[in-house]
Amino acid sequence: MQSDSALRLVWIYPDLLSTYGDQGNVLVLEQRARSRGFQVEVVHVRSADPVPESGDVYLIGGGEDRPQILGAERLRRDGGLNRAVQRGAALLAVCAGYQIMGTTFGGEEGQPVAGIELLDISSGRGQARAVGELVAEVDPALGVPTLTGFENHMGVTRLGPGVTPLSRTVVGTGNGDGTEGCYAGHVIGTYLHGPALARNPGLADLLLSWAVGGPLAPIDDTWYSRLREERLAAVLPR
Ligand code: GLN
Repeated sequence: MQSDSALRLVWIYPDLLSTYGDQGNVLVLEQRARSRGFQVEVVHVRSADPVPESGDVYLIGGGEDRPQILGAERLRRDGGLNRAVQRGAALLAVCAGYQIMGTTFGGEEGQPVAGIELLDISSGRGQARAVGELVAEVDPALGVPTLTGFENHMGVTRLGPGVTPLSRTVVGTGNGDGTEGCYAGHVIGTYLHGPALARNPGLADLLLSWAVGGPLAPIDDTWYSRLREERLAAVLPR
C-alpha cells in the first residue's frame, strides 16, 4: 500500500462467485481497516470487467460449478489477478475461489478444469459433500487463533510442496486430508464460507497487516469475540 493513498480492497466477480455471503469478508476488512484510521476504497469487479492490478487485498468467494468454471476462464484470460499477486498483493480465496487458484479443479461431471496456478494445489470431486461447521487449528507461524467456520463443497484438495496448510481440522473436512486451506506468500485459500472473517478476525488482520506492511493497532473485538465463543461452544465437544 502506498502511504498517501487509500487501502484498496478488490472484490472479484460478485456476479459469479458470491453465493454464501462471502461478501461479508469485504465488509469486515473495510470495517477493521477504517477502525485503525486507514482510508479504504472498495472496488467490485464484475466478470465482464478487467481485474485492476493496483489493489492491496483481493477477495474471491464461493459458488456453484458453472460460475466457478466461467470465473476461472475469465481470470485466466484477464491475467490481472496473477500480476497483482506477483507484485505482492494479498488474496483471500474461498471455496470455489480457492479451487480456482490451483492448477486444476473438478467441473460438474468431475472433468478437470484449468485453474490460474496461484497456489500449488489441485482439486477433484470427493465421494460425499462436506457440509457443516468446521473448526481448525491454524499453523502457529501465522499467529492466528483457532478457525471457526462453515463449509459446503464436494471438492477435495491436494496440497503440493509449494504451499503450507493453513490449519489442521479438529471438526469438519477441509481439504479432505486432515488439513484445511493453505497459504503461500500473501495468498490464503480456505473452504470456510460465510463470511469467514467475521468469525476469524485474526485472519482478517493477517491480510490487513500484509497489505499495510506492518502490525496493526488493537481494536474493540467484543462482538467478534462473542460470535467466536458462541460458535466454538456450539461445535466443540465439552
Ligand atoms: N463447486 C465447488 C465444490 O463443490 C465449490 C463449492 C463452493 O464454493 N461452495 O467443491
